[in-house]
Amino acid sequence: MGSAATPVVVGLDNGGTSNNATVLTVDGRFLVDGLLESPSEVQAGPQAAIEALADAFTGALASVGVTRDLVRAVGLDTPGPASAAGVISSRGSTNFSQPQWRGYDVRGALQQRLGLPVVYLNDGNAAALYAHQSHFGADAAHRSSVSVVVGTGLGGGLVEGGRVIAGAAGMAGELGHVQLPLTGLLGPGQPDPVCGCGFVGDAESVASLTGIARNLLPYWLTRFPGHPLATEPLARAAKLVRGLGERGDPLAREIFTQQAKAIGRLFTLVANLADPHAYFVGGGVVEAAPEFRDWFLATVREHTVLRKEQAAATFALVPERDMAGARGVALAALRVSSAPGR
Ligand SMILES: [Zn+2]
Repeated sequence: MGSAATPVVVGLDNGGTSNNATVLTVDGRFLVDGLLESPSEVQAGPQAAIEALADAFTGALASVGVTRDLVRAVGLDTPGPASAAGVISSRGSTNFSQPQWRGYDVRGALQQRLGLPVVYLNDGNAAALYAHQSHFGADAAHRSSVSVVVGTGLGGGLVEGGRVIAGAAGMAGELGHVQLPLTGLLGPGQPDPVCGCGFVGDAESVASLTGIARNLLPYWLTRFPGHPLATEPLARAAKLVRGLGERGDPLAREIFTQQAKAIGRLFTLVANLADPHAYFVGGGVVEAAPEFRDWFLATVREHTVLRKEQAAATFALVPERDMAGARGVALAALRVSSAPGR
């Protein structure tokens, strides 16, 4: 089919423990079907991590039998917070705890190491771009969407006309730290939820694993005396909530109802700010049992207030959770590599 000579871009998704890599031809075919993981060495500091990314790059090409001279550009995503240009926050972050990471230009360092143009997105924005492209296909350039990805935190992004909205400082689409109206969201006597960023009542303070451990579970355990989770350490108990929810446990369902309501309120804000064609929900919930997954998405939809004129908007899941980051940055790299003037 001549694919051996077709130029490609490479997508590298950097995480706390693993990198995942993908290869995308310039005519839009992903050559890697599943996960292609290798250690990320993030805890060993920037130098080791850049070498690990270079290894992931080389390994990805080898796995699909494509030579390096066919690579037009590389896409890189990492957990945030980082600038739109790929400089890790000067305050560090959960994933990049080593002091050397503070203010580190991870995009520039990889570009220098590989000698190829490197395009950067944070992991939430990368997943948002992949959700958008895979949902809309040929119409992607003429559609807008919002994605939330529920994990340890709440990531996501806004896509307009097929492009991620990055903002002036790269802080657009930080949906986890949008503050929500709390009236009617909290249970009787429930303390205002607080986020790790210091905000009270932002989306991440409710709709994240951290939010469960810090805010939701301590309250809901007081409403369900004798619940088995009360004997577990909070961090461990928080991770058990989803499995219980899938099995219909009432406390777990209260927690996920509250999360779905919070995401609905966030989407209601977005509906009035950006009026997107589609609303995507991703994260661990995507992998949950179908009944639970569908119930969660329907509850989000139920609590998103749209105008009659907006009723045609789509609600869907971010597909292929584990591959969305690598595929999203590969799509971003493809756009750069095919831009006029290159
Ligand atoms: Zn926050």
